[in-house]
Amino acid sequence: MDMARIAEPEKVKAKVSKSFVKPWLGVKYLFKRPVTIKIPFEKIEPAPKYRGFHTLNWKKCVGCNFCGQICPARAIEMTWLELNGKAEKRPHPKVDYGRCTFCQFCVDVCPTGALGFTESYMLTTGGSEEDFELYDWVPIEPDKVREINERFGDWRFPVVKVEKLGEGRIRYHLRDGSTFEFRILGYGIRPPAALRKPKSAPAKTSKAGGSGSGTKDENAGKREEKTQG
Ligand code: SF4
Ligand code: SF4
Repeated sequence: MDMARIAEPEKVKAKVSKSFVKPWLGVKYLFKRPVTIKIPFEKIEPAPKYRGFHTLNWKKCVGCNFCGQICPARAIEMTWLELNGKAEKRPHPKVDYGRCTFCQFCVDVCPTGALGFTESYMLTTGGSEEDFELYDWVPIEPDKVREINERFGDWRFPVVKVEKLGEGRIRYHLRDGSTFEFRILGYGIRPPAALRKPKSAPAKTSKAGGSGSGTKDENAGKREEKTQG
């Protein structure tokens, strides 16, 4: 086996070329336009299908959690939601943009095509605690996000403010002045206690075993009353 040949340190001479001209070569860049842009005052057109913020068709989402399982950044949390006073039958993904790498594995793996994305990619905040709520995103319908994109055309996050109304109720203030309200009932794959179906009632007694109506306990109670009478 050939051993890699490594030169001994004393044989390695640092190539340092002293020059009084080189530092001045950078001066020419003072008069060139910077390659960076002033966000949010300037914008650039993202490439078609640029992997931006997520959207979700709530009706299509079956709550399978494939998106949550494949996410390499653990940015997805399944969330039980209530819309217009009615609890959704399945949990839906919530995305933490503090962790998300925008790889869109979650979109690729979604079996129903419920999870999607738009080219919107810009989320800038003032850094206050309230602003950080914007990074916790329960994706909304793609049509609404696209409508806002077309109206403003600057590829910014569709929500300007997240208002917490108490008892898990959330109100998104969207950029076009409209609002979107929902309630978070719980997290995880299993439904929260409030949504779990009560255990099935005890089996009814057979006709041969009693009066034919009522549960075992009720019939036992009736029998007791008769014996007392
Ligand atoms: S968004 Fe898609 S992958 Fe995620 S839970 Fe819903 S149906 Fe499943
Ligand atoms: S885009 Fe990638 S990192 Fe972001 S939520 Fe989806 S799978 Fe996770």
